[in-house]
Amino acid sequence: MKALIYTKPNTIIYRETPLPKIKGDEVLIRIKSVGICGTDLHIYRGGMELPTPLIIGHEFSGVIWQVGSQVKKFKKGDRVVAEHVVSCGRCSYCVQGRPNLCAQAQVIGLHRSGALAQYVAVPASLVYPFPKSLSFEEAALIEPLSIAYYAAQEIGFVLDKKVAVIGQGPIGLLVDQVLKAAGAHVIGIDIQDARLQFAARKKWVDKVINSKKQNAADAIRAFTKEGVDITIEAVGQAATAEMSLEITRRHGTVVLLGVFESPASLNLMHLVKKELTVRGSWTCAFAFPQSVELAAQKKVDLMSLISHRYSASEGARAFQEALMYTEGRIKTIINF
Ligand SMILES: [Zn+2]
Ligand SMILES: [Zn+2]
Repeated sequence: MKALIYTKPNTIIYRETPLPKIKGDEVLIRIKSVGICGTDLHIYRGGMELPTPLIIGHEFSGVIWQVGSQVKKFKKGDRVVAEHVVSCGRCSYCVQGRPNLCAQAQVIGLHRSGALAQYVAVPASLVYPFPKSLSFEEAALIEPLSIAYYAAQEIGFVLDKKVAVIGQGPIGLLVDQVLKAAGAHVIGIDIQDARLQFAARKKWVDKVINSKKQNAADAIRAFTKEGVDITIEAVGQAATAEMSLEITRRHGTVVLLGVFESPASLNLMHLVKKELTVRGSWTCAFAFPQSVELAAQKKVDLMSLISHRYSASEGARAFQEALMYTEGRIKTIINF
C-alpha cells in the first residue's frame, strides 16, 4: 500500500509500505479522508520522541476492507470512523470507565501505525459506523468533534451559562458549536480577526474578543460584570491559561484543553481567591456515537471547517503548508 511516512523531523515521504496484518479482533479500514491536527504538526516538527519510520494520523474515515475472525458487527464496505486510543481494558482507569486515561494506552498514529495510508488496522471495539448523509471528509472530523463533545459533556449543564472559548482553531470552533447547541452563551477569543469573524458569521459565538487588540478581562467585564461562568482554554500557552483564570467569575470553572508544549507559570492566587475549579480534558471517551449523531443531524457543521484539501501524493506539501498557520486555514484534509 501507499502511505505518508514520517521518517525524521520535517520529513514526510509518500511511498510503498507493507499492508498491515489484522488480528482476530481487528478490522482493516480502507482510508478515505484524514484530518491533520496540531498533534500531527507537533510530531512533524520533531516535538515528540517517537520510533521512526512511522505512519502518523489519527483523525480519519474510511470503509471496512477486511474483518478479523472474531469480528461480528462489521462487513466489507461499511462506512466507519474510529477512536485512536487503544486502551488495555484492565487497568483501574479502564474499569472505572476512563479508557482515555488508561495507564497502558497505545495511540494510533503515535505508538502504532496511523491513518495517513491507504489502510489502517484498528481494534473493532473502537470502530463506529456513520450514515451516508455524512461525507468521508466530514466524518474525518468526528474525532476532533468528539474531543470537543467530551470536554463540554464533562462540564455538565450549560444552558444559559456564559462560556468563553479561548482559541478559535478547529477544536475551539467545534467547542463553540457544541456549547451553542447545548444552549450556552459563547464568547470566542482569539488573536486572528479572520477566525473570530468566521465564528461570528456562522453564529457559533454570541460575542468575539480579539485579545491582541483588547484586554480580554476588560472586554469580558463589559459584557458580564462578574466574569464568565466557564472558560475553555483551547490554545495551550501560559498567557491563555492565565487569561482563563482572570476572566472566569468567582467559583467558576476552567477547562484546559490545549496541548501545552512547555511548562506554564501562572498566578494561582486567582484560583485560590476565586475558588475556581480547574480541570484538564484529555482526548475523549464514550463520545464517538454521540458525535456521529450530532453531525448527522447537522446540529454541528463540520464541512465549513475544511479549508484545505490535498491528495495523498501531495501529503508532504500539505504538512509544510499547514505549518505556516496562515489566516483562512482552519482544517487541512488529505484524501486517499
Ligand atoms: Zn488530533
Ligand atoms: Zn487500561
